[in-house]
Amino acid sequence: HLSNRLQTVADFVRPGARLADIGSDHAYLPVHLAKKGVISAAIAGEVVKGPYHNALTEIENEQLTAVITARLADGLAAIHLDDNIDTITIAGMGGTLITNILESGKAHLTHHERLILQPNVGEDNVRRWLQDNSYEIVAERILAEDGHIYEIIVGDPTDTPVIYTAAELKFGPYLLQEKSPVLQQKWRQEQARLDQVIATMKQAKNAPQQKIAAFKQERDQIQEVVL
Ligand code: SAM
Repeated sequence: HLSNRLQTVADFVRPGARLADIGSDHAYLPVHLAKKGVISAAIAGEVVKGPYHNALTEIENEQLTAVITARLADGLAAIHLDDNIDTITIAGMGGTLITNILESGKAHLTHHERLILQPNVGEDNVRRWLQDNSYEIVAERILAEDGHIYEIIVGDPTDTPVIYTAAELKFGPYLLQEKSPVLQQKWRQEQARLDQVIATMKQAKNAPQQKIAAFKQERDQIQEVVL
């Protein structure tokens, strides 16, 4: 049984996919998809030995060694050309780490892969990387679980690059259209955080006016665009 977060990632893996799950830890995502018969093959990539062994153990316990291969490797180096991977999932990390993994692993991409990304923070970095590397965002989800709010961003390769506005990169083009209660909750929390920062800064002796103005602008943008 997957968390709602990982289930939402799983929902975007198409039947018959050849999946690479990078930073797989226990390999719960590929194991679940293999048991459901959704994927035809998977790589579970891990750069840390402990999680790599978690993946190995889970795959063996579920008797899925014929379908899923665990590899100890940094980022996309887990993917070999003859794996014919068509779907990559990277979930449960910061957006900066996800973009670093994509950027430094470009040589392992054929630009035919669907990318299903679930950054815990820094979603704007992920969207900008997709835009700058000829991926079109084809779907987004936002959900709350266990006191956290998670975003899932799905990118498909495109030959006609899409340019997103600054607001779309920050809040998400689909999430903005939808303006769900969870999105509004997320950005209300961010507003409250900014208000706190502004209040603290104002108390400082030499209050940095420019910075305060910038934070206020950020706060007002959230108000205008999302709430
Ligand atoms: N993907 C799973 C999920 O969403 O539940 C596990 C997330 S876990 C918090 C992040 C995992 O990413 C860790 O096991 C960590 O070792 C792995 N990781 C971090 N950087 C990595 C990299 N450059 N290459 C492969 N795995 C990496």
